[in-house]
Amino acid sequence: MNISEEIIASVKGFLDREEGLRLYQLAAEISVRAPCLEIGSYCGKSALYLGAGCRKNNAVLFSIDHHRGSEEQQPGEQYFDPETYDMTAGAMDTFPLFRKALAMGRLEDTVVPLVTGSSVAARMWATPLGLVFIDGGHSHEAAFTDYSNWSRHLVPGGYLVVHDIFPNPEDGGQAPYYIYRLALSSGLFDEFPMTKTLGVLRRRECGVMPEFLPDV
Ligand code: MG
Repeated sequence: MNISEEIIASVKGFLDREEGLRLYQLAAEISVRAPCLEIGSYCGKSALYLGAGCRKNNAVLFSIDHHRGSEEQQPGEQYFDPETYDMTAGAMDTFPLFRKALAMGRLEDTVVPLVTGSSVAARMWATPLGLVFIDGGHSHEAAFTDYSNWSRHLVPGGYLVVHDIFPNPEDGGQAPYYIYRLALSSGLFDEFPMTKTLGVLRRRECGVMPEFLPDV
């Protein structure tokens, strides 16, 4: 991992150092085979770890975010941060901070930002993926849509990684844990040890991913 702790600490985000290093290791391992993709770039903290892993193999990280903030990051909500608000647009805009993080981490030739909703990005997607990191909207609907849209693009042996898993409802929202269990119950994934709230599953070599019904 060759991005300094100082740079990473200067980037806003909700990712623990240990979780970040696990992301780096997984990306460094799997990106020799296929690109990685994350849903929920925010200000770029996880992209620094995943991107550094991909850069090792001259691979690519696709990083999806509309950069308008999630429900709980809007003005007046629990996780609102005034520094992410664009007065001119009258909306949140975390993309400038994300670009700045990529520049600081020298990841502009590794990370491909997709500034759009994850469902739009998924609509015509056809590239097999080595790792999918789900850390986008935390409503049940958003988490399920991300799981159904993206996990099916994983290559056999690829990693499905889910952030903010709280088996105890008193510790946090249940949507990430719900899709984690859904993936496990599909029989298509093997469970790996968690790192704090980071769940790690690996796509089995056999079995066909179900086709989910498209959004209506
Ligand atoms: Mg998260």
